Amino acid sequence: MLKELEDLVKLQKIDNQLMKITGLKGDLPQLVENLKQEVEEISATLEKEKDRQKEITLSIKDLEGKIEDDKLKLEKYQDQLYLVTSNKEYDALTAEIDHMKQEISKAEYEILELSEELEKLKESIKEREMLLTDKMKALEDKEKELKSTNEKTKEEEIRLKEERDELVKKVPLRYLREYERIAKARGGLAVVPVHQVFEVIRDKNGNIVEQIEMEVSCGGCHKIVPPQKFIEIKAGNKIFRCESCGRLIYWDDKESVVLKDEYHEDEEFI
Ligand SMILES: [Zn+2]
Repeated sequence: MLKELEDLVKLQKIDNQLMKITGLKGDLPQLVENLKQEVEEISATLEKEKDRQKEITLSIKDLEGKIEDDKLKLEKYQDQLYLVTSNKEYDALTAEIDHMKQEISKAEYEILELSEELEKLKESIKEREMLLTDKMKALEDKEKELKSTNEKTKEEEIRLKEERDELVKKVPLRYLREYERIAKARGGLAVVPVHQVFEVIRDKNGNIVEQIEMEVSCGGCHKIVPPQKFIEIKAGNKIFRCESCGRLIYWDDKESVVLKDEYHEDEEFI
């Protein structure tokens, strides 16, 4: 087989194994990422709510202090009422008393409103803290799961990546670019064996008694390969591409032979 094609086939086989490892991890890395983000968002909201809680508690304390002061002033003014000697003084004092009363009820109303907000806030903080605990637990579990999968596959992944790095150095850049381009567009499969389907005749014990050559097709998209082209593909002296999906196609003594009764067309990667 042409050296470049041989290297590309090797590259595809390494990538297939790497894809298998990625498949093992499934959506775990993404799940962990999402959970991390959720935990961050919940924590940030919680912090804001707790800041507001502190702010309200302080405001209520201030208002309570103000009410106490105002009540003392009010008492003082009311005591002074008995000592006034003129109408003018009396009017000024009652105006002051009314003003104090207004101030006190205004502050009391503010406390009421703030207390309501505080109650709602406490409820919300409690719920959010529970949610945060749940999410953190889920994150911990998923991280553990991912870590154990990573540990199991780490060595193999490193070995495959090293092998890949070495191999890639040997593949001419234009082929490498084509490979990467097709792989990106075709679910990671850029180089595929052609499939020659054989119709098999079996005896009553299930043993194959005769194999009849059927059509040859692309192992990626199942597009039929013309017979003349197939002869050249089988010779392996040139790189061929599938007319339909654009993948690089080659003949492999083992993988290209497909028995019709074991062949499932639905396993295609288009
Ligand atoms: Zn194809």
